[in-house]
Order: sequence, then C-alpha cells, then structure tokens
Amino acid sequence: MEASKVYDTGLLYHHYANTAYPLTPGSFGAYRVSGAEGVKRQLEAEWGRVESYCLYVHIPFCQSRCRFCEYTVLEGAGEETEAEYVDLLLREMELYAPLLRGKRVMGFDIGGGTPLKLSTGELARIVARARALFAVDPAVMWSIETTPVIAARDPEKLRAVRELGFRRISMGIQTVAPHLLAELGREGEPHIYEKAVRHIRQAGFEQFNVDLMYGFLKQSDQELETTLRYAVALKPTQITLYRNRYKGTKLEAEAGGVSLYKAMRQYRLAYRILTENGYHANIGKNTFSRLEGDWGTSDYLTHRVIEGMPYLGLGLGAQSFGLGYLSYNEGAATKRLDQYRDKVMAGIFPLQDVYALPQEECMAKMLAVCFYFGFVDLQAFRRRFGRDLQEVYPDEVRFVLDRNLMEFHDGKLMLTPRGADFINGVIPLFYSERSKQELLRLYERRRAPESEGERNFLATYSIEAFDRPSVATDVVAMTIRHETADSYRRPGRPHLSVLLIRRAEHPFMGKWALPGGFLRHGEAVGHCAQRELFEEAGLSVEALHPLGCFSEPGRDPRGWILSNAFLAVVGTADRSLLAGDDAMDAQWFDLDFHEENDRLTLVFTHAQVRLEASLRLTRNRFGQFAFGTLSSELAFDHAVIIATALKALQAGDGLRRLAFAFLPAEFTIAELQTVHELLLGRPLLAANFRRKILPFLSPTKRTTSGAGHRPAIIYTKQQENDNNEL
Ligand code: SF4
Repeated sequence: MEASKVYDTGLLYHHYANTAYPLTPGSFGAYRVSGAEGVKRQLEAEWGRVESYCLYVHIPFCQSRCRFCEYTVLEGAGEETEAEYVDLLLREMELYAPLLRGKRVMGFDIGGGTPLKLSTGELARIVARARALFAVDPAVMWSIETTPVIAARDPEKLRAVRELGFRRISMGIQTVAPHLLAELGREGEPHIYEKAVRHIRQAGFEQFNVDLMYGFLKQSDQELETTLRYAVALKPTQITLYRNRYKGTKLEAEAGGVSLYKAMRQYRLAYRILTENGYHANIGKNTFSRLEGDWGTSDYLTHRVIEGMPYLGLGLGAQSFGLGYLSYNEGAATKRLDQYRDKVMAGIFPLQDVYALPQEECMAKMLAVCFYFGFVDLQAFRRRFGRDLQEVYPDEVRFVLDRNLMEFHDGKLMLTPRGADFINGVIPLFYSERSKQELLRLYERRRAPESEGERNFLATYSIEAFDRPSVATDVVAMTIRHETADSYRRPGRPHLSVLLIRRAEHPFMGKWALPGGFLRHGEAVGHCAQRELFEEAGLSVEALHPLGCFSEPGRDPRGWILSNAFLAVVGTADRSLLAGDDAMDAQWFDLDFHEENDRLTLVFTHAQVRLEASLRLTRNRFGQFAFGTLSSELAFDHAVIIATALKALQAGDGLRRLAFAFLPAEFTIAELQTVHELLLGRPLLAANFRRKILPFLSPTKRTTSGAGHRPAIIYTKQQENDNNEL
C-alpha cells in the first residue's frame, strides 16, 4: 500500500497508531488457534524452538483503578483473594515448566497492577517457585513495580523485596499536579514521593525508575514541566515517559481533544528538560537514564524491545509473544478471575486467545515495539527473521529516508527529530498489509444506515454527481513579543505580532501569506489547521478559535476553494519558528492597525519588510463585520482574514476571554492591561480596567519582586469553559 497514505492516516489516528500492536482486540481473528489440543500443540512447537526468553509475572491488584489505566486490574481485592491468586500463578508456572526446561531466562519482571500490594510472604512464594522451575540467568537484574503510597508507608516491605533478589524498582508518579491526580482518580499526593524515594534508597536498590505521563487533555505544558523538574530533583537512575494511550481506558472519550501537536510539543519539552539534566536518550526514545551505557529499562524490556526476544507472561490477562505466536491469558478482555481460575484448576493453559502468526505479523509486532526506543537494530531484525529490513520494507525505508523521518546510524535505522515528532505516521508504515488496511478502514468508518430506505438511497447516491469546492484552512497565529532585535522600535516595548510565511510556490510565489493548506482525505478542518501550522512554521498549538469560512468567489486564482480560518493565540512558551514544506520563510511581523470611518489599514513589519493592506469595513444587520479589499500586499484574501481575527479579539467577550492566552498562567493586572491595549490599539484607564477585570481573576498569595516598582499582586485566570475553542 502507498506509504504516504499509511503515514497520513497514522498521523490522523495518532491515538491508535502507536507501539501497541495489534491495532484492535479483533485484529488477529483470522490467526486464532482453536481447541485445547490445538493450543497445546502450538505451545509445544513454539517453545521447542526457543533458546532464551524473558519472564513476566502479572499481579493485577490495585486499590482503585486509575482512569488512564489500560492494564488488567482487579480493584479492592482482599488478602484471601491475593493468596488464592498466588496459588493459581504457581500452578500456571508448573504448566509451563516442562516446555521451558533448559531454556535461559534473560529478563524477569514482576509488574501489574501493584505487585507490592501482595504480602512479602506471597512475593517470596512466587520468587521461590520461579527460581525452582525456570533457569533465570544469574546476571539478570530482576525488576519489580511499586506505588508511591506503598513505598512511603512500608519501608520494611521494600527491604524484604530487595532481599528476595530484586535489584531494580519502578515507581509510577505520572504527575505531581494535584488537580490532575484527582482528575485521573489516582491515589496518593505529591508530598509522599520524597518519603517513598528515601525508603527506596534505604532499601538498597541498584536502579530506581520513575514513570511520568504526558498527553492528558487537562495537563498544561507548565504542569508537565513542574512534574519533570520535580522528578529530576528526586534523582532516580531512570525516568520513563509514557504518552497517555486513550484506547480502552476510562479517558477514551477525551482522546479527540488531544492533538498530535500537543503530544509532540510535550515530548519535546520533556526531552529537553531531561537531557539538560543529565538523562540520556536518543530522540524518539521514551526511557531516559543517567547511567553510562544503560538503556533505561529492565533486562526484560530491553531484550523485548531491541531483539524482539520471546517472552512468557504469567497471570491474569498477561500477554506472551513467541517466535511465531501471540497469546493473551484469560482476563485480558473480561478483567475477571473466574475463567483464569477455572482453567488453571483444570490443568489447562489459562489462555483466552492464541494466534499463530505469519512472519509478516511477527515482524510488525517486533517493529512496533522497537519504537519505544526510537530505532530498529538492523542486526537484531536479521537475527530474528533471517532477512534484511531494507529487503522486507524497501518502499517504507525509502519513504522514511526521503522524508527525513529516519536515518541509518551505527547499525540502526533511527528516528530523526522530525521522525520523533511524527512517530505515529512512521510506526504504521511497518504494519502488516492487513493492519494497514484496518487502519485505513478506521477513518473511512461511517454511520450505518438507519433504515432500508436510507440504505437504498445511499447505495445509489453519487457524491461525484455534484460540483464540489476544494477545502483549505488558514491560521492567523498571533502573539505579543518584547524582542526587538529585528525591529526599528525601542527595545523592550511589547507589540502585537502575526505569523506570516513566504510562499515557495505559485500562486503568489514569493509573497507573504498566512500559514495554511488543503484538507487531506478524511481530515477534520481543525486538525488540518494544526498540521499546516506545524509543517509550515514549526508551531504547535492546541486551542484554535474558529473565525469562519471564507468563500468569496475569486478569492483563490486556482479555482473554487473555500478556506476555514482559525485564530491561534501563541503564548510566551515557545514562539520559535522554523519554515518548512511549502514555505521559504516564516516570520513574526509586527502588526499595526488604524481604523478611520469605514476604512481599516493594516501594516505588517519585519526587519526591512513593510507590507500594507487597506480594507473597507461594513457591518451587517446582525452587527457582524464584513471587509472588502481595497488594496493588499498579502497573498489571497489573507488581509481580510487577519482583520476578522482582529475584530474577534476586540469584541467584548472575545477580548476578555482570549487576552489571557497571550500571557503565562500567572500575571499582573498591568501585564493583562497591556495585552488589552495592544489588541484594542488604544490606552485604557488603569482604575477602570482594574474594576472591570477583577471579577474574572483569582489572586495568588504572591507578588512581583525586584522590578524596581512597588510589588504587584500576581493573578491567575478564573476557571471557565472555553466552549468556542477546539
Ligand atoms: S496503579 Fe497502575 S496498574 Fe494500578 S490502576 Fe493505576 S495505572 Fe493501573
């Protein structure tokens, strides 16, 4: 299948196209092995040809289920259930033991759930039986997971676990923002983390990892930065970054609100902060370590990711992957113990689904997982499949090289910074043909007809029968800048700026225009606007304010082209620009405007470039503004779109609501007044402004200091719903 189509679809469905493979629970239905005898034969044949493997034991117990959790978890189980579960686990180990005799275990993890919710005695039983039945290599660093609550509360248990032989421990912090912790239904509070870390250190673990998460709908960049800096200050040996995967979680409905560009921006932020603070990782990788030569993961995960080493998962819902099969234990779908219990007690492998996979699917599975580390090890791929990656995927490899998404380096095919941004387009390139088709079908999914009559109507309806316009988007990105290195103005004076790109192609080649472009097949207009802004100027924004559809005949010399325009307010955080794709340059232009009678003049300046547009301004009977172009040095009708954005910002409610977006989360009233003045183009009376704006602000307990003025109170915006934003 055409690589560009798969790549584009992966970006559109970025919450699906990730390292989790297969795509959906039903994806491998065609490969299902049926009947207890068939399963037994499959397992015997599979494990017969394995020499070394990794072992994972799943403990499914948690106090309560976090809303983002995608794992097999049982809530609120008591000690009796836990003890019974360990009995079942030991029996499951015994079922596999004859198949694995003489084969070396190269990684051993106990994960969950919350393994440390078990008593020390139960954990000791698991370890003793694993040691007795499986040939765990003495060099393997065993790894186990804890929660901050348990680590803070029970230092004795940590010491006991260390004595059992676990040298590495991993603790999920995820975020330190109290409102987000509450939102995610996560137990514990930030103040316990330091105590938890102290106990982990005192217990003597050689390696200690902290898990953090990003990409939540209600997580700001500032909160993520606070969490990252907090985690760095705890000095763990490793930090693992997980992007929230909405599929199958209680947060699934929020997925559409989180753009690819938010995820991208937050990964970049995290990568910068972690690498600046002594944690190393190649770009695109999600595990960071401050130990020389360390991959940042447990032995179990390192072998799985780099080498595609077979692994056996034991316990409720656990997944196993052999050289030619994939399986899920009972409980993976139902998250219930009874079927798992029934099969184990009957002496049957407690498997819910077993799939005998063709080589193409095994390759896809291995490669999807490789992207945890941001690269494919070429020798490991050859060792596992006896073929070269370039031989199996010639078009896909050419595509990622041509588009500067990946590059060959040191025996690996590695993500470039651009590839790390667009990883959700890269991963599905290596899916099997069947999975690529499945991904494409996801976005072609339509509502089923409601009646026979509607079905018949749709069967004969031809969308081609009507003349249709092309649809594009344009974005008015605005910010307030104090930098004046390239301006004729006095240093330090703030000014309103708008982003323009210099067109690299006809029509209007060489002219300055708004960033924008055509909708791709299946794409929503808001997504298109975000994508174009990123591709042409390297800017990543989430909140877009719709300005309307621009459809004046003749607005585009190429033909009948409608543009859906959006306003993007770019805050102080990241305004650096990078021209790309159809743009030869991208710059912030100072914007001055002057309105007199029915005429609006816009002046754009950047260094020596000065552009002007003159517009006739009218109001319709609903009070809405309409503009006619008298003259414009900008391409298309972009001066009209910018004027529309300006009016949206100046309108009473729009001004009050949108002005906050130009500022950081905390600001003074004077700073907010400056924003209002710049947007309105006139000074405001300070006392009057203060009286009107105060009801919309919440004071913090802090004041400014050191600016040579009287300290000013620092405020935040009061919470309200921004329903007009995407
Ligand atoms: S603690 Fe971990 S395993 Fe348990 S519910 Fe929360 S995310 Fe899931």
